[in-house]
Amino acid sequence: MNVAVLTQDLGFKRLYKESILATTGIVCPHCFVTNRVPDARVADAPTCGKCHLPLFTGKPTAVNLAQFQKMLQFNDTPLIVDFWAEWCGPCKMFAPTFAQASGQLEPRFRLLKVDTEANQEIAANYRIQSIPTLALFKQGKESARQAGAMSLSQFMAWVESQA
Ligand code: ZN
Repeated sequence: MNVAVLTQDLGFKRLYKESILATTGIVCPHCFVTNRVPDARVADAPTCGKCHLPLFTGKPTAVNLAQFQKMLQFNDTPLIVDFWAEWCGPCKMFAPTFAQASGQLEPRFRLLKVDTEANQEIAANYRIQSIPTLALFKQGKESARQAGAMSLSQFMAWVESQA
């Protein structure tokens, strides 16, 4: 067997495998289909293969239970969830901060909003005891939680400390 040819062949297979594997699962914030985006393209304003809308909008995504489950299961980048409710004053005060942070944290993170009144099952599942509660999920598992509204700089510092 020609060793040079064998090496070349293995090199090609490795390259091929890496090009297949080096993608990030990004769940569309509009139609909630999972897109496999090449890693190098994630920060390049990718659009959804199904609905053709931008995968990143610079704004938080409001999710219901089914949509939240899709995000937890299929979105590879970390999720930051704002558990809130309409009647909660501190939540409303924090909302613009969270929206502003979204523009700065995408595409490294996906920011989600869960209305705990409309989605009591989610609030119960995650034992949300006060709002606003901010929670970070990595690969579907909660890895950090912080209760109470924060300033933008406090919130960004918290995210980076947990990232
Ligand atoms: Zn879509």
